[in-house]
Amino acid sequence: MTGLPNRLLFVDLLDRAIKRSQRRQDCTFALLILGLDRFKAVNHSLGPVTADRLLVAIARRLQSSLRATDAVTHQPACTLARLGGDEFTVLLEDITDASDAMRVAERLQSALRLAFDVEGHQVFMSAAVGITVSTTGYARTEDVLQDAAIALHRAKADGDALCELFDPALRERAVARLTLETDLRNAIDRREFAVLYQPIISLDTGRISGFEALARWRHPTRGLLTPAEFIPLAEDTGMIRQIGRLVLIESCRQMGAWVKRFGKDAPQAMCVNVSGRQLADAGLASEIEAILEGTGLEASRLKLEITESAFISDVGAAEATLKRLQSIGVEWSLDDFGTGYSSLSYLHRLQADTVKVDRSFVSRIGAGDNGLEMVRAIVALARNLGIDVVAEGVETVHQLSQLQALGCESVQGFYFSKPVDVAAADSLIASQPWRDDDECRQAVLSGHGRLNHN
Ligand code: C2E
Ligand code: MG
Ligand code: MG
Repeated sequence: MTGLPNRLLFVDLLDRAIKRSQRRQDCTFALLILGLDRFKAVNHSLGPVTADRLLVAIARRLQSSLRATDAVTHQPACTLARLGGDEFTVLLEDITDASDAMRVAERLQSALRLAFDVEGHQVFMSAAVGITVSTTGYARTEDVLQDAAIALHRAKADGDALCELFDPALRERAVARLTLETDLRNAIDRREFAVLYQPIISLDTGRISGFEALARWRHPTRGLLTPAEFIPLAEDTGMIRQIGRLVLIESCRQMGAWVKRFGKDAPQAMCVNVSGRQLADAGLASEIEAILEGTGLEASRLKLEITESAFISDVGAAEATLKRLQSIGVEWSLDDFGTGYSSLSYLHRLQADTVKVDRSFVSRIGAGDNGLEMVRAIVALARNLGIDVVAEGVETVHQLSQLQALGCESVQGFYFSKPVDVAAADSLIASQPWRDDDECRQAVLSGHGRLNHN
């Protein structure tokens, strides 16, 4: 269709380049793979026939930019081919080093920058480029193509219209990621996830007002993994939906058990983190309703924790989900408050019940670094909007007394307890100093009320 060599022909040329580079040291070649950004979306909106015309126009532009390169540098023999779908590839022979290939990549990318006119539509295209150079020592065409594809993947992950040069560390990372992805899929079937619970303490009463449920993965060979090690991958692959669901079910079930066992002394709320991918799911509200029904937990005992980055994809849909849940009594907190870009507008528009002041501000209290002033401003703002404040990451008695003085309602952090398993959480609840509130508050503030010392 584009009049370019197809994959088969191209692979043959590549094979010959490999053999030449094996015979002669100075015959260095580079392989570039160019991946168009958002081509699927274009295909979808313009229809396949117009999209094909666009591809032809793109191929022509790329081809002429390569010819221009040849003319200026009198250099590399280059062959452009279409790999299929939204990917093109260029074989550059007789180059001096990787910088030649980088220059060609830039030319290709800038050739796409002007708008394309296709059947009356103005379309803007951009592309990322992955490059690998034969000095890596290749014997097989598939290895060359794979390494350039890994570099392209990396370039795309970094953002639009970037260019990345392959290095072996990238391959190791790609393999590690793939292994982790397979392990994560298995982990769901094998129920390798655990939930730890970290107490949230009310400074009004000095007692545990709730617990935050925090996911852990008991990896069969790597031990207990923290969310930082698997949540990002789970979000990228969409597996967070299943994992999030498991955490919701388990933590609601646990809260139900505590209510049964401790009655009026049970903690008020179970706080569960919900990611953007889950929130974007139109079925989330019904799913949560079903979980509450299934576990017999009162809606007012569940509180969702959502970071503002979760709202980026579709605020409108998220708003509808949260409103519906609030109408049945499920509250929500804006998590890691102050670390994003638009917290204030979300607070106002989405009517959060609680804000959780990010640990980074709390840890700067007393560091002479405006931390205290930031927290003071957040507490004042929240109070004016009628929103509760929880301070995260409280580690010292100094931070605690400052927060108390500012009128912060609740605190959470290692000063009181790290996230713990059910048995330890059980004894935290059971061993709370169930005394007169005043006495209890004093105990917490003086440090004697620390729940454990791990
Ligand atoms: P988060 O929701 O802000 O949770 C608080 C994190 O801060 C927890 O880390 C907790 O262990 C840590 N932390 C609490 N107090 C202190 C302290 O005093 N000092 C320090 N240095 N750290 C403290 P964790 O468990 O590693 O979780 C990290 C993040 O992973 C969570 O941040 C949350 O965003 C995410 N996450 C955890 N579980 C889930 C889950 O089930 N679903 C989703 N979507 N995300 C989760
Ligand atoms: Mg949280
Ligand atoms: Mg947080």
